[in-house]
Amino acid sequence: MTNLSRRAFSLGLPAAFVAASAVGPGRTAFAQARAVATKEVVPLAQITVGRFTVTALIDGYADMPFTYFTGRPAQAVEAGARAQFGARPNGIRFAFNQYLIDDGERLILIDTGPAGSLGETGRLPGALEAVGVRADQIDAVIVTHAHVDHMGGLVAGGRRNFPKASLHVDRRDIAYWTDPAKRAAAPDFLKSSFDACAEMVRLYPDLQAIDGERQITRGVSVVDLTGHTPGHIGVRVEDGGRSLLMVSDMLFPSVHPADSGIGFLFEQDPAAAHQMRARFFPRAAEEGGLIAATHMPFPGLGRIVSDGGRLRWLAADWAHQG
Ligand SMILES: [Zn+2]
Repeated sequence: MTNLSRRAFSLGLPAAFVAASAVGPGRTAFAQARAVATKEVVPLAQITVGRFTVTALIDGYADMPFTYFTGRPAQAVEAGARAQFGARPNGIRFAFNQYLIDDGERLILIDTGPAGSLGETGRLPGALEAVGVRADQIDAVIVTHAHVDHMGGLVAGGRRNFPKASLHVDRRDIAYWTDPAKRAAAPDFLKSSFDACAEMVRLYPDLQAIDGERQITRGVSVVDLTGHTPGHIGVRVEDGGRSLLMVSDMLFPSVHPADSGIGFLFEQDPAAAHQMRARFFPRAAEEGGLIAATHMPFPGLGRIVSDGGRLRWLAADWAHQG
């Protein structure tokens, strides 16, 4: 077990428990008890997958207006979310989860969060600190696609946040998000992703463009999930007959996996996104494998299951998985 594993494990359950209590009905008593606390706690969750330890971290959250969802009228999206107690005044709450993979030798971070560019975000640095990891100890960063909510944390103040990490991004996304013609034609809300991608390319000159499905390091491989963006990828961690598939933006809370026809405003090719979800959801339900999804409620771990023919998300029992 590495330093990370030991330290994070000792923090894992209590930290998550305390964070959950902070918004629960016991807030007053909790607030009083907390007056003696000396340090802010950061929610984290950890599972093992064979020889890997995967730690879920969270940069924060943002509420996405019902009008941001495509494929169905906003009223229908809202009604569906309300039926699941997922409708908030400003829309559906998206978490921004990141995953830190420790194979005993290397630390690989999957995505870096919006880093304050939207919603209540910017907590990833504190989360890393809480597990005892400095940014310069990260050996590799895999960015699942070039939307700013997945890569915003790569850079701050014109400098790289992960100075010693190799950076891996799908070649199709690098090409798309650095294309001046595509930027010029894009709506305003996508410009920040183009700008963040340009900065990423400039500040990470040894950026490694990924072509198709391949292994990044032993037991860590890329899965092609094109649709949400041209180079949208997942990351599979596999060892000893166990696996975890991090699927990034394949799933959004409240709407998926029940309705693969619902997409998101940020998708340039709604048909491609729809096709990938329509293929992936039933396959995942059949396989029953453990999934991690960026925007599902923290820690984003769960499974797609068929419940009388209807697909639904089943959160995993993450706290005690060994
Ligand atoms: Zn996203």
